[in-house]
Amino acid sequence: MERRSENGRRLGHIIGSVYLVHLNRALHGARHYLGFSTNIPQRLAAHKAGRGSPLLGAATKKGINWRLVRSWRKRDGYFEQDLKRRYALADLCPVCSGKMKRT
Ligand SMILES: [Zn+2]
Repeated sequence: MERRSENGRRLGHIIGSVYLVHLNRALHGARHYLGFSTNIPQRLAAHKAGRGSPLLGAATKKGINWRLVRSWRKRDGYFEQDLKRRYALADLCPVCSGKMKRT
């Protein structure tokens, strides 16, 4: 059987970028979103339009700013799942870990 992530997306095989989004304010206790895409700019534009991520869609509606803070190129969906399992997203975030200036 094929492994699928919780939202039904096919994992593995496709090579793309894993990306981390930081929200300026927490929404439902979440301040980060980790995603996978073969085209990050297109994917972020879709999120701004409310597609692809309920969290970012809701944040955009509420006027909470969010931005891309980190990406890992040439990865697959397994890498994304691995990061989610192994790390707290705040520890991967350059803003929250103090490596990037807060705005
Ligand atoms: Zn952060």
